[in-house]
Amino acid sequence: MIVYVETLGCSRNQVDSEIMLGKLAAAGHTLTCDPACAQAILVNTCSFISAAADEAVDTILEMARYKNQGACRRLIVTGCLAQRYKDDPDLTGTLPEVDAFVGTGACEQIVDVVEEKRSVPLTLFPDPGTRGFQNLSVDRALTGDPFAFVKVSEGCNRLCTYCIIPTLRGRQRSRPLEEICTEALSLVSKGVKEIILTAENTTDYGQDLNDGTGFHKVLENISCQVAAANPDVWIRFLYTHPKSLTQKIVHTVKQNSNICSYYDVPIQHADTTMLRRMGRSCRQKNLEDLFFMIRQTDPDAALRTTVITGFPGETDAMFTTLLDFIQKVKFDHLGVFTYSDASDLVSHALQNHVPQDVAQLRHDTLMAAQEKISEQINQKHVGSIYPVLVEENPEPGLFIGRTMFQAPEVDGVTFIYSKGLATGTFVQVKITDAFAYDIAGEVAEEPVANRFAATAYENETAGNRV
Ligand code: SF4
Repeated sequence: MIVYVETLGCSRNQVDSEIMLGKLAAAGHTLTCDPACAQAILVNTCSFISAAADEAVDTILEMARYKNQGACRRLIVTGCLAQRYKDDPDLTGTLPEVDAFVGTGACEQIVDVVEEKRSVPLTLFPDPGTRGFQNLSVDRALTGDPFAFVKVSEGCNRLCTYCIIPTLRGRQRSRPLEEICTEALSLVSKGVKEIILTAENTTDYGQDLNDGTGFHKVLENISCQVAAANPDVWIRFLYTHPKSLTQKIVHTVKQNSNICSYYDVPIQHADTTMLRRMGRSCRQKNLEDLFFMIRQTDPDAALRTTVITGFPGETDAMFTTLLDFIQKVKFDHLGVFTYSDASDLVSHALQNHVPQDVAQLRHDTLMAAQEKISEQINQKHVGSIYPVLVEENPEPGLFIGRTMFQAPEVDGVTFIYSKGLATGTFVQVKITDAFAYDIAGEVAEEPVANRFAATAYENETAGNRV
């Protein structure tokens, strides 16, 4: 079969797609990047928020057209949308074009589903909590990017009231440490230049193992083994939880130059009453202390966070608390979502739902504030020299890459004015221009002192931000 996969949603879904593609290739199927010539099309869906679920349905209907206009004769929906609506009696009726719905716990059975070997029921939903980790003997089919995600765990034990993920992915299962390192080394041997550790909460790693193995152990081991294999390869981790991002982890980052001083800490809000209604188990003071600790311990730290506006019960005063917090901490990167209600969420039952236009206005207010903050921070990079991972060459003389303080797909980028660079390589760039979200520069002649050029920028920020 010729197979095409359309991946939606988060980095964990990206890994699942690469696992499924790897299994299909190992079973002798041909992978294509063109849905028009695919005999089987998989849509690996997301449904974290209603906008994602809408996008998933639109994508399924778009792919279904290839059953008439293309070679497709098998349309398969996998991932969180399928899992979320597994008990919906109208699931198959709503999307008659779909030949099989496969839950988040069944990625490993994708070959059978595509080959229709056994009388695969139209729907396949094993308990996602029982899903193990892929055996590393079957290679993931990588996307060709210079970075690759590596899962450190599956599922989540937390109960945020606006979130459906624990239901879709099961309780947390930490992956054996050696498996994580083995996969990272295999990716490095395939030329990957940046290993990005991902999970629902990377820093909750080990809490289900009860043997004291914490996330700092993962970082220590992977940093040391990857450095031995290729000292240039970067290690990044995303999706930390404010309650489990410890000083030990920050120290480990500071002590290992191949780990990006990049802390992605979704806080969702900063007002204590809101945090309690969200089930976030931390208070504003905890968050202030956390970001102060990170910056004291690792002055190179780049901070990213995401917040929700318009959560049920959010008053003007609570929103102002959030706005003040964002302006006080000065995050390098900020993502803002408006609250997305759904009847299967705990938060749905809460009182005082906020009108969408108010939620959107608060979203826009935060983004406007962040745009100023982001530009101020970017201005301070001018004159500094940073290692940059070159990723694209959109036009002659212009390349696009990222520094250690820019994560893929969510943050700004670094434009490099150069006659000739190779994508997938590192280059030292002297920053000459700064914009609201991006920076730009030229190839530096003089070498870089360390992973972050020690300039006025570092000394100044170490002092005056939380
Ligand atoms: S920590 Fe909260 S938001 Fe994140 S996956 Fe778990 S329940 Fe969802």
